[in-house]
Amino acid sequence: MKTKIVTAIFLLMGISVFAQNVNNIQMPELLNNNSRKTINVPNILGYQTLKCDFHMHTVFSDGIVWPTVRVDEAWNEGLDAIAITDHIERNPSKQDVGGDDNSSYEIALPRAQQKNIILIHAGEITRSMPPGHFNALFLKNTQAVDTENWRDAFTEAKKQGAYLIWNHPGWKAQQPDTCLWWDEHTELYNKGMINAIEVFNEKEWYPIALDWCMDKNIAPHSASDIHGINSEMYNLEDYHRPMTLVLAKERNLESIREALFANRTIAYFGNILAGKKEYLKAFFEASVEIHAFNENNKEKSYIIKNASDVPFQLSSSNKSFTIPANGEALVTLPSNFKNEFVIKNLFIKGTENLQVSLNL
Ligand SMILES: [Zn+2]
Ligand SMILES: [Zn+2]
Repeated sequence: MKTKIVTAIFLLMGISVFAQNVNNIQMPELLNNNSRKTINVPNILGYQTLKCDFHMHTVFSDGIVWPTVRVDEAWNEGLDAIAITDHIERNPSKQDVGGDDNSSYEIALPRAQQKNIILIHAGEITRSMPPGHFNALFLKNTQAVDTENWRDAFTEAKKQGAYLIWNHPGWKAQQPDTCLWWDEHTELYNKGMINAIEVFNEKEWYPIALDWCMDKNIAPHSASDIHGINSEMYNLEDYHRPMTLVLAKERNLESIREALFANRTIAYFGNILAGKKEYLKAFFEASVEIHAFNENNKEKSYIIKNASDVPFQLSSSNKSFTIPANGEALVTLPSNFKNEFVIKNLFIKGTENLQVSLNL
């Protein structure tokens, strides 16, 4: 009797274990669960180097994606913070999507909180040149910045505590032949209404705008201004999207605000860094490690390692070499060489590179 019961139990177990589930078989291995990339940039000068893109669009202006997609893209690509900057005065999809100028922020916020992406409430003041387009960050009510007169828009944004970025100053649709600083920009600058300038936007770099930043103590920024799908737009195999590196005390919204108003930014696009001398120097020094390994009376050899995603293209009067990103260079230098290099892809002015001496 007992044997029969045991046999019956085994049979039942056998059936439940081996029977084919014909209703619903899950295949989680197909999902892209841990797709977040790491952006290797060093923390410098006691700050955290936060990876930020402060310029992008959704269906709430002339972009083609829903706001939560911007958060997912940012997470996948390893960013810390984003601002969705839909055009305040221009919303061609208005009839189809409804909502108002605050909608993209409100819809994206819960997703940003879920994914630990810092989302900044913002909008793009979209006017003809001058003064052109400006992103206003840290707004409380983007709708209120939708005014008839552009000066009123700036006044309202400033009243809300906005940080104002002059976008794509050399964009050909507004400035066909030049990248020009107008009287209106002097007016805004004197009122503290140009906190930053995009020296890089989408796929364009405006070296002269970096000169303005350095001469007038304005923060250089770099941004995607993405309207479509980011992974379709950029070559993310070999590069990151353009971004602004923010040197923040902590990884949170308040620290980003403090760092931005203190001009602690580096524009990062392609393999180029643009910004203040002391930040780029600290970035280089924190990324690079040098070991001597062979010496005779004529020359000395070194292994130079680079722990960052930015390659460094060094050039001196008699020696040029690149320290590859996340790699190392083997370099032999004559004992009488002059230890003065420029780093060709690190810009401290529009046409001026960072100079360094290697710590040999
Ligand atoms: Zn724009
Ligand atoms: Zn834009």
